[in-house]
Amino acid sequence: MSENTQWEARLDLPSHFAPYDFDEVQMRSMSVGVVKQVRAYANGGTNKHLAEIVRPCYSIDPAQLTLGDFWYTLAWLRLNTFSNVPLVVEWECPVCGHKNTESLDLQGIPIDELPDDFQEPIYITTSRGVEFPVRLYRVRDEIATEKYLERKYKGEYTAADEQLVDLAAVWVHDGTLADKHAALESGDVLSPQDIEEVRAALATLRHGPRATMTSTCKERDCGYTADAIPVRFQLQRLVPSPEEIRRFAAPAIRFGAVRESASDG
Ligand SMILES: [Zn+2]
Repeated sequence: MSENTQWEARLDLPSHFAPYDFDEVQMRSMSVGVVKQVRAYANGGTNKHLAEIVRPCYSIDPAQLTLGDFWYTLAWLRLNTFSNVPLVVEWECPVCGHKNTESLDLQGIPIDELPDDFQEPIYITTSRGVEFPVRLYRVRDEIATEKYLERKYKGEYTAADEQLVDLAAVWVHDGTLADKHAALESGDVLSPQDIEEVRAALATLRHGPRATMTSTCKERDCGYTADAIPVRFQLQRLVPSPEEIRRFAAPAIRFGAVRESASDG
């Protein structure tokens, strides 16, 4: 791809840029080369983070974005690189076990935005009166916490470990990630209940494309409705499979001579 490829769109973000020191993101759709790397990544073929792979599509480094904004830009990439191919979400019915597939039109997905008066740091005061300053989680935090967790636990960590390290990453406080993680783990800063309260408060600032959807089981006579199916713009979903493209897109075919003028037919 040429460096001077034109930008295709200037995006407004669900955060309205309040968390950043820049106020503009320009984007272009994924090139054939980027799509190839995304496919390789989805198949476990590269150690790169998605944000590094799609970097050529952005005028800024997408690792700076909050996760909500990043998902929003990924949805834009998906929509503008593969038009008319909806996101196919698969879910297994917990009642009858039927494997359902649901097509989701990204164009119509609800977008949650941050409050107009949002700014960082965010001061959260727990019910026992402890004030805890945080900022929103960024893509680069995800890259850093994954590396840290791998190093510290050699791949043997639980969801609770991950949640605590994520909280350490967004805690606005001096020290390395390891220092902040150790301080939180000691319990001297926040009690177990404080931690849950802080996480609940942060969850209210979730923004970007709505993370869950509702769908009804298609198995005859079942009719179970699931109302919190996770919709994540993960890598494998960022690039539809060749089967999905064939299912939703029908290219036109004609045979014969080069078409010269409308009067031929
Ligand atoms: Zn069912």
